[in-house]
Amino acid sequence: MAKVLIPTPLRQFTGKQDAVSVSGGTVGEVLAALITQFPDLRKQIFNDEGKLRSFVNVYLNDEDIRYLGKDGTAAKEDDTISLVPSIAGGSSVTAPPETDSLSKDEILRYSRHLIIPEVGVEGQQKLKAAKVLLVGAGGLGAPLGLYLAAAGIGKIGIVDFDVVDFTNLQRQVIHSTADVGRKKLDSAAEKMQGINPHMKIVKHETALASENALDIFKDYDLIVDGTDNFPTRYLVNDACVLLGKPNVYGSIFRFEGQSTVFAYNGGPCYRCLYPEPPPPGLVPSCAEGGVLGILPGIIGLVQATETVKLILGIGEPLVGRLLLYDALGMRFRELKLRKNLECPACGAHRTITKLIDYHQFCGVPHPSPEGAPAAQAQETTVNEGEIEVTEVKAMLDRGDPFLLIDVREPHEHRICNIPAAKLIPLGEVPQRLDELDKSADIVVHCKSGMRSAKACGILKQAGFRRVRNMKGGILAWSDRVDPSVPKY
Ligand code: ZN
Repeated sequence: MAKVLIPTPLRQFTGKQDAVSVSGGTVGEVLAALITQFPDLRKQIFNDEGKLRSFVNVYLNDEDIRYLGKDGTAAKEDDTISLVPSIAGGSSVTAPPETDSLSKDEILRYSRHLIIPEVGVEGQQKLKAAKVLLVGAGGLGAPLGLYLAAAGIGKIGIVDFDVVDFTNLQRQVIHSTADVGRKKLDSAAEKMQGINPHMKIVKHETALASENALDIFKDYDLIVDGTDNFPTRYLVNDACVLLGKPNVYGSIFRFEGQSTVFAYNGGPCYRCLYPEPPPPGLVPSCAEGGVLGILPGIIGLVQATETVKLILGIGEPLVGRLLLYDALGMRFRELKLRKNLECPACGAHRTITKLIDYHQFCGVPHPSPEGAPAAQAQETTVNEGEIEVTEVKAMLDRGDPFLLIDVREPHEHRICNIPAAKLIPLGEVPQRLDELDKSADIVVHCKSGMRSAKACGILKQAGFRRVRNMKGGILAWSDRVDPSVPKY
């Protein structure tokens, strides 16, 4: 006898039983026996052709049977079979739509949705009843905000505390040139409300943190992760798992993007995929590594599509699948994602039962309270081994004997440089030590001070003693020494 776990919304068909023991040699036979015993279950699980409905997932123990070879999979004694419908009871991402009838204006506005049978009036009402939280109003948040507003999501919350700057405009198309210096929240909300005055926008002007995440998330059906740093990724994941809310994930770097839906209907979470973050500095951010401006549009709209599908309960959600996009090859691929039964967040023996300190977990410094960039925050104190840009300028003006090394990449050097500096990209520093005089005074700089700090570490390990890191990099040089040096 195998045990079949009946989810809450289907218990009305099993005489309120939450588990039923049924015999059968395969999962298919077990399900057949189950619907013989409870005939009303048939149309909930199978379509008219007798095939499993696309919105019902069947798990044998903890494995989705789609990975095990359909319903021919053998069911042994003591096996547990779980039926997991995608739009029902606790797993439904939207409230019942009856209360959200559409006005005449809305019917006109959404007419191209209403005439799709899979959406229709009922679907549009679901969208109107839905409450979606966007974490970040940047590259991914821009297309998400614009299209989800246009699609008629009833309430969209946005978490952001940043202001628009010129380097954002290449990809964050929700902000315009005139918005530079404004809060991203205000700029984004204005554009979204302009597209759709029927929706409600909630501005959460804060850095998402362990202290506030659960409180912010609890009012939303589904969370869309548009962040760009590891502490927030883990925070969003853990909060979603703890609250049982789907996490629509997207990430971008240079020409490549990823998307999937985590923590939905028993599917894997971010920690199933990456139990631990990479060591700090190993994976560069978009600010360090760059990103094709169009890329967040594509990945953000994959996230927007999944969001709308989850709300409508249609199609096959991107659950247990990691979609990979390569813009240069113009290819989409997908990888199977398995739920990790030992996952610390969602596994059987989970250890994460509350939110933790994610900056400590990821080994990165806490952001300054004002959200000020590191270069500005550093201006207040000079640490040992560091030197101010103004001091470097004075040394150059005096003709002091010292060596200035630029450890950025050649393509960055072409954007802007300090003429006196010698270019040795960080990756080449270990091989080119013999070009440098161990007894010389050395100052190292990069764009903002991170890579040059690493280079200083390498030099010191190699026996160089008089090595200093130019604080804030060439960005600080542009701010405080030579404004004609372009910032990037
Ligand atoms: Zn997990």
